[in-house]
Amino acid sequence: MFKTLLIANRGEIAVRIIRTARRMGLKTIAIYSDADANAYHVAEADEAYRIGPAPAAESYLRIDAILDACARAGADAVHPGYGFLSENAGFAEACEKAGLIFVGPPASAIRAMGLKDAAKALMEKASVPVVPGYHGDNQDADFLGEQAGKIGYPVLIKAVAGGGGKGMRRVDDPADFAKELKSAQREAGSAFGDERVLVEKYVARPRHIEIQVFADGHGQAVSLYERDCSLQRRHQKVIEEAPAPGMPPEMRKAMGEAAVAAAKAIGYRGAGTVEFIADASDGLKPDGFWFMEMNTRLQVEHPVTEAITGLDLVEWQLRVAAGEHLPLMQDKVPLKGHAVEVRLYAEDPAKKFFPSTGKLLRLRLPSNMSHVRTDMGVREGDEVSMFYDPMIGKIIAHGETRLIALRTLRGFLSGMEVAGPKTNLAFLAAAMGHEAFMAGDIDTGFIDRHLDQLVPKGGAELRVLALGVAAHLLRRNAQLEASQRQGDEPFSPWSASDSWVPGGHRSERLKFLVAGEEVMLTVMPDGEGWRIAGAREEGDDMLASAAMSGDGALTATIDGVRLSAACVSKGAGFILIHEGTATEFEIADPMDVDVASDADTGALKAPMPGKIIQVLAEPGAEVKKGMAVVVMEAMKMEQTLAAGADSVVAEIHVGVGDQVEAGAVLVTFEENKV
Ligand code: ADP
Ligand code: ADP
Ligand code: MG
Repeated sequence: MFKTLLIANRGEIAVRIIRTARRMGLKTIAIYSDADANAYHVAEADEAYRIGPAPAAESYLRIDAILDACARAGADAVHPGYGFLSENAGFAEACEKAGLIFVGPPASAIRAMGLKDAAKALMEKASVPVVPGYHGDNQDADFLGEQAGKIGYPVLIKAVAGGGGKGMRRVDDPADFAKELKSAQREAGSAFGDERVLVEKYVARPRHIEIQVFADGHGQAVSLYERDCSLQRRHQKVIEEAPAPGMPPEMRKAMGEAAVAAAKAIGYRGAGTVEFIADASDGLKPDGFWFMEMNTRLQVEHPVTEAITGLDLVEWQLRVAAGEHLPLMQDKVPLKGHAVEVRLYAEDPAKKFFPSTGKLLRLRLPSNMSHVRTDMGVREGDEVSMFYDPMIGKIIAHGETRLIALRTLRGFLSGMEVAGPKTNLAFLAAAMGHEAFMAGDIDTGFIDRHLDQLVPKGGAELRVLALGVAAHLLRRNAQLEASQRQGDEPFSPWSASDSWVPGGHRSERLKFLVAGEEVMLTVMPDGEGWRIAGAREEGDDMLASAAMSGDGALTATIDGVRLSAACVSKGAGFILIHEGTATEFEIADPMDVDVASDADTGALKAPMPGKIIQVLAEPGAEVKKGMAVVVMEAMKMEQTLAAGADSVVAEIHVGVGDQVEAGAVLVTFEENKV
């Protein structure tokens, strides 16, 4: 076994690899960009080396800088993790040339699977079933349109160099084909530097089922069974599980054999995943699955496989890379119970899952919960930056049965305290408890179909409002007391409200922006606590009393029910975390008639920093509410920004190629026409 391992990655996966490597007695080396100088993975490693500025292209994707770090650290092996250079054949070769062991497949195998069109052709030859479609060289738009007609709609256009769901468009209507083709090509060109696409049949009721394969350098390969990754948004996985619900043993066997055949056909070595799409319209069947692509690396969702097999896949990777034989033969690979993983992202489910950034003001996990594994990429106080994938971490539960695993995971999620950027935590918990999901009634359209139930709209619950009011008043008391102790003038936000005196008897109007919604209510002292009135309508009075500890732990009694919550300061307001849901309370001056929100300022603003890639309107043009006006690229995603109301464009403030800051005004509309 080699002795010093450099992990050419960051975040959750780097931390996870370090954990196993350390257990195996290896010295661990991290690398970091300027944005990550104080990151979790850096703190976890034995040594860490700076490799460049924040943008990935200038750091984590720079082969020369990484090899230089290897030389300085005296590393003898490199683990690429996932993403970044993990599927870059040139990197694998460069490592080998530098005398380093690359913990991954041979460069030739990466290359064989690197492009989806060539991979499909290769798999057809190896008698692995592939999704029907056109994956030849002709990229002429009319020709591809004809092919789509032959395949039969709906079709899927895919970037041959694609990954992470980018450069992919589903087309239902032939009239949209040309437009969608263009947009897929543009996204592919900017993401992968390769505009080529393939066209394939869009499988009905698709389920994404993939097989984990493992091969050694001695001609052996095994399947570590399947994972079901059908719960996706924007073609990207958010919830994964193993085994797949309703998987017949004959189909598991057929898929395992097809995946092993695929691995052997390309001389594979190490961990790999063969992704298939299955047609679930009539239940899972041994002849109802087709090859989509092979990911020649460890995968984000590998922990569910580890949970059901009891194996450590990173340990297997390191041992195979060191030349050992596979530790187990096929008939000895265990399959026990059921495991579910959720990916906790800094993103806003209410805004089409758009990435969210910022400091993690709070990140606490329930203690004492067995059968739950957490693979976190950040700690409380760390920053989710705009430069990289916005994943906060993964939470994995294992149970004897699927329902037990789901319940365990749901319980864990509802005990988590996460605040700062917007996250999908409440969305994940809702999914865990969704009836159709619990029944195993899933396919890749699940999230879109049930979005309304998974992403609660409407305002905060009344009891959350009451908790927020209690937190606000207690915080204000504490601030007042502190400033009086110091003999200062009361701290400004509070000094404005002259009607309130500690221990007084007068009622007071309070105004908050609660998760963006304006809420105006009246509080008056009542016994040991307060009476809160008019939060939603007449007669919805609540009686609240509460106490808060120094670190923001709030205990409140609302109408006789004891509740707990956590309260974290943010700006002049705070974030209240109750039952896994974080709700932001911004404090407004009750004298303000209107709290301006972005929607009614008559301008279209950039939701985050990014690059403008298309402007779809011109001054004077009439636009309808919801019509696309600008397309921008931010955090590696294309985002279409639409008009907030029927209006007329007054001015366009940006051009294609411009780099813009968050909040920058992109387009203004004519006020009087709004
Ligand atoms: P998987 O099936 O393992 O999720 P994906 O193709 O979706 O495979 O991508 C693997 C992971 O790598 C994803 O979580 C993706 O967000 C991440 N990733 C891809 N490219 C990058 C990158 N340039 N920087 C950081 N993370 C990346
Ligand atoms: P990527 O490289 O971006 O991971 P994939 O080819 O693996 O691209 O496809 C990503 C996702 O898109 C799949 O998990 C699946 O949900 C969906 N998808 C891909 N191909 C098809 C298809 N032919 N029919 C239906 N859905 C598909
Ligand atoms: Mg894929």
